[in-house]
Amino acid sequence: MHDSNCLFCKIIAGQIPSRKVYEDEEIFAFHDIHPWAPVHFLMVPKLHIPSMAQVQPEHIGLLGRMMALAPRLALEQGCNPYPEGGFRMVVNTGLEGGQEIHHLHLHVMGGPRPWFKKG
Ligand code: 5GP
Repeated sequence: MHDSNCLFCKIIAGQIPSRKVYEDEEIFAFHDIHPWAPVHFLMVPKLHIPSMAQVQPEHIGLLGRMMALAPRLALEQGCNPYPEGGFRMVVNTGLEGGQEIHHLHLHVMGGPRPWFKKG
């Protein structure tokens, strides 16, 4: 499913330019335009799922593959290896969760600290 009003669907379709990190038949990853960390990219399903609040049982495999892919992409993008290095993954959900773009996405952030507030 594709939402023609969705910014991330337009990025996936190449209608809006982005700095691509990774693409396969079901997952797209690209650098965040306003990075919060030395490494900061977003991983999105190509399927338009508005947020974690709409996740259904049939999405579990896809979400698992996104989570499992993140460590490889984080290293490729310059995060240092675990455990001295590592990265942070965040999924903002809904207004009170700080979500601005309503297409499910994982923020993957890393690089030398300090760059984020704990908590
Ligand atoms: P959210 O607040 O929804 O979790 O995060 C949305 C993220 O998308 C923000 O970190 C923001 O910087 C990023 N973003 C918003 N518009 C664009 C854009 O046009 N291109 C890219 N690459 N990132 C964007």
